[in-house]
Amino acid sequence: MESIMTVTRFAPSPTGNLHIGGVRTALYNYIYAKQNDGKFLVRIEDTDQERSREKFEKNILDGLQMMGLAPDEDPVKQSQRGHLYLSAAQKIVDLGLGYYCDCQPERLEKLRNQQQKAGKKPMYDGKCRERNLSKSENTVLRLKTPRDGEVRFNDLVRGEVIFDNCELDDLILLRSNGNPTYHLCNVVDDAAQGVTTVIRGEDHLSNTPRQIHIQEALGLPDLEYAHLPLVLGENKKRLSKRDAVTSLDEYIAIGYLPSSMVNMLARLGWSKGDKEIFYLDDLIKDFRMQEVQKAGAVFDIKKLDWINTNHLANLDLEEFIDHLKPYLKKESISLESKDNWKVIISHLRTSSPTLASISQDLIPYFLDIKTYDQKSVDKFLIGSKPLLEFVLRQLESIEPWSEDQLDDVLAKCQKDLDLNTPQLNQPIRVAVVGSTKSPSLGLTLSLIGKEVSIERIKKAIALND
Ligand code: GLU
Repeated sequence: MESIMTVTRFAPSPTGNLHIGGVRTALYNYIYAKQNDGKFLVRIEDTDQERSREKFEKNILDGLQMMGLAPDEDPVKQSQRGHLYLSAAQKIVDLGLGYYCDCQPERLEKLRNQQQKAGKKPMYDGKCRERNLSKSENTVLRLKTPRDGEVRFNDLVRGEVIFDNCELDDLILLRSNGNPTYHLCNVVDDAAQGVTTVIRGEDHLSNTPRQIHIQEALGLPDLEYAHLPLVLGENKKRLSKRDAVTSLDEYIAIGYLPSSMVNMLARLGWSKGDKEIFYLDDLIKDFRMQEVQKAGAVFDIKKLDWINTNHLANLDLEEFIDHLKPYLKKESISLESKDNWKVIISHLRTSSPTLASISQDLIPYFLDIKTYDQKSVDKFLIGSKPLLEFVLRQLESIEPWSEDQLDDVLAKCQKDLDLNTPQLNQPIRVAVVGSTKSPSLGLTLSLIGKEVSIERIKKAIALND
């Protein structure tokens, strides 16, 4: 028998920018398709006309591209496929598996309240099920959901999942304005696009039995499922804008590499022994959907910093500079303004975990110091005039201005003034870079150059007056 090609899909609703939970869903769909020599598709679920926006659609598609998760076919948009949903709805009517219902919102609201008061799950009571109403302006179309029995499906993450049909009500397929609902569109499209495997967030788990009933009514093939654990914030609650940055763009804007985001998100809810650093190719080899854990996974920014530091270190110098350039531009740093820019970059490239913060660390090496860190000034600069004047005299005579010479002279100053290393070095460091953050002092001074270092020490002395 000819085996069926695995087809996965990422089906975002364009009601907001691409968020990191969405990237993780897309990533797992992509990996699973590639592992099975299948296809990864993208479907824009834009039936909610009020909340859907073209700009969000663009943001989502651009984000996927940037992450290396390009779909294997052009994305489809539900707003352009209305005819498919309407003919599926008609088929359900023709088969006698759906019915029109004219229950008004007030009645449904009252019913809901009564059920809630009685401690019952709110659900439609099937009042119109046998009324044989015809379609009209006030009717919705509902699916006749089986009243007894259960729905079972196999989930690659959760194993066998069972829902009792008595927990499900007759869901709406067409609204009174004739628009199809999310459930109907989703099922029709999965079948029309040849999708075999639905990989999505756990928040959709309770939708699955409802969607299986629609599939069965339409005689569509069974699908394979994987419901992924939620992405949690550091407070162990569902990651929300309130407790963390959630949109992919914002992480990229700070200077996390797309490959680091892929690495981080792949590891949310999945692991392989002690291995921590993964690129997309590794994941296609190593990832196993069956190994994804059921419990929610915490998005830990410190972990992302660590991963990004590793991914940045793995770039060769030229690639690193290509990635860094947009961030340098924001700081108005022009590398070519310094002859020794390559040396500076090679020493500072691991100074901070993100490209934006590395660019900020580079400011004192290329531009005037923009801001002095006030705490460091108070702690080390104030009262350091005699020390700085002494060091200045020693530094002025250094020739050539090399790291070795500087180390020797600094060691001698330390001895002459009978100070420990931080006591001598920190005031000088704050004077030349504006904070206590820099590589070893001899190296820092050599990178900044003689003229600028001396000028900054003089300025720091003047600050004490
Ligand atoms: N459009 C749904 C969402 O954005 C996804 C549905 C699905 O993956 O089946 O949550």
